[in-house]
Amino acid sequence: MKKIALTFDDAPECGVTDQILDILDQYGSQGGGKATFFIQGNRINSRHAIWILKRIKRSGHEIGNHSWSHARFCELSSRKIWWELWKTDCLLFFLGIRTVGVRTPYGEQNERIEKLLGKRRTKIKKNILWTIHSHDSSGATAEEITKTLKHTEDGAIVLCHAWSRETGKALESFLGECGKEIEFVKISELIKE
Ligand SMILES: [Zn+2]
Repeated sequence: MKKIALTFDDAPECGVTDQILDILDQYGSQGGGKATFFIQGNRINSRHAIWILKRIKRSGHEIGNHSWSHARFCELSSRKIWWELWKTDCLLFFLGIRTVGVRTPYGEQNERIEKLLGKRRTKIKKNILWTIHSHDSSGATAEEITKTLKHTEDGAIVLCHAWSRETGKALESFLGECGKEIEFVKISELIKE
């Protein structure tokens, strides 16, 4: 059975992330299926958003830090990068959530960012990138996303977005069709350090 890590950036998005969780839960009840959600701190701005986060945790998915404001890290001072990550971690900590690691906004990285991430007390100490892009952030349709998902290889890390309705639709048809042939795992199962 191939193992794939589904990852959802820019979480949470009220009304969409819930739907994605519904689909994953539904699939999970038939034998397990976990994902990783990368949280953007300033999106946690309502009771509903907090409720989604608690639900992500309760369902056993993994949670990563995707900065506070989705700023471009390459343009920030080290101090500001630290602040972006710390603020999100603090808010999540109050919700009883510890993050597994960081995926920088736009996946930006350089030597300075790598060094900084290496110093953080997280399970994964390097930027958590992806191997397959669903292109849901650049207008891919549900059919196109489903096709991309179908062609993923064992060990792939798939980038999706927690606000994409097309991704929600794609997951529904993909899991219905291929769910039994693939094991969906948390990112920490594919990235070991
Ligand atoms: Zn993002």
